[in-house]
Amino acid sequence: MEIKKGDTVEVVAGDDKGVRGSVNRIVAGRDRPRGRPAKGQGTLARDPNRDRVLVSGVNLVKKHQKPTGDVRTQAGIIEREAPIHISNVALVCPHCQQRTRVAHQSLENGKQVRVCKRCGQTID
Ligand SMILES: [Zn+2]
Repeated sequence: MEIKKGDTVEVVAGDDKGVRGSVNRIVAGRDRPRGRPAKGQGTLARDPNRDRVLVSGVNLVKKHQKPTGDVRTQAGIIEREAPIHISNVALVCPHCQQRTRVAHQSLENGKQVRVCKRCGQTID
């Protein structure tokens, strides 16, 4: 996984191109097959909502919320974020502040860390 919750990302395609925000949630999607499909099994049906991220201030949609009688629910037209596909965002490196691709590096303790392809610094 190249992008994690709390990362700053930049939108690279679509209406919000160029906008930066922090990742509030990773949307994995439902019925995601575990591991690779068995040989000869072909392509499994994919959830269109999988591999998306919710980015603060990005991909705002207007939701028309009916009054439900619950005082905690805000009625009327609410603007909120909708998940954007992970391929449409790029990670912004916290060190060089540029959008970058990610390399993975294994540490001696067996853990993997992300490394900025531009400045070479560890991101995690
Ligand atoms: Zn960097």
